[in-house]
Amino acid sequence: MIELDDFSYAYPTGSRPALRSLRLAVPAGQLCGVVGPSGAGKSTFAHALAGFIPHALGGETAGRVVVGGRTVADTPLPDLVRDVGLVLQNPFNQISGVKFTVREELAFGLENLGVPQEEMVRRVDAVLAELRIEGLADRSPYQLSGGQQQLVALGSVLVMRPSVLVLDEPTSQLDPVGSGQVFDAVRALHRAGVTIVLVEHKLERLAEIADRVLVLRHGEVALDGPPATVLADP
Ligand code: ADP
Ligand code: ADP
Repeated sequence: MIELDDFSYAYPTGSRPALRSLRLAVPAGQLCGVVGPSGAGKSTFAHALAGFIPHALGGETAGRVVVGGRTVADTPLPDLVRDVGLVLQNPFNQISGVKFTVREELAFGLENLGVPQEEMVRRVDAVLAELRIEGLADRSPYQLSGGQQQLVALGSVLVMRPSVLVLDEPTSQLDPVGSGQVFDAVRALHRAGVTIVLVEHKLERLAEIADRVLVLRHGEVALDGPPATVLADP
């Protein structure tokens, strides 16, 4: 589902590459966790999968990232948004803020794509049910807890029905209750067969839900294996 073919990347202002010759494949349905120290390239990796690199951020790439059969660098960002959904640390980087209710917020991206009203309602209802936030549908995103807000941000990505879901430290700004809500949702999506890349600061947390863990260090894959193997590594 995801393939990195000797992929390297340097930011326009970066003195050294943020990602170096990454070669890896994530099969459909896998939940692949990504850990590593600060500055290791985790966030850059997430943005490369979602096409923000190179499309929005520029810089120098070498090699290829292929998602769902499409080469990211050759696919316009608006098309990629349907293939790859990216959830960020702060839900408010994702929530438009101009909408009054959660339901309207979830419909926003579909409206922009010109999805017919009937289908839009169907998709929004499906995602509300899937994330178990039907009860929040008519509330303002501003009146919700951090965890609930992150679920709304996740929902705004899921309405696009991406084949791959990338989450960049989605719980780093949440309390334990909020983190639990988001992790439960990720677990459910994994059970439903969605391919997931989850960047997370804490390996122990990741080990509870991931099929596989990539450890990045200095933009390279330092370790790659099942959580138990990675946990056992000194
Ligand atoms: P992590 O998410 O693991 O903390 P990042 O992907 O954010 O790591 O950063 C990887 C490297 O790229 C770091 O050296 C960081 O300083 C650099 N970097 C991150 N974002 C930018 C940027 N917008 N411009 C230049 N360098 C960046
Ligand atoms: P369709 O009827 O549109 O073919 P699919 O069931 O094949 O729907 O799924 C299409 C996409 O919808 C999947 O690639 C996935 O990203 C998303 N999807 C499927 N099941 C779920 C789910 N349980 N939660 C979130 N998204 C899902």
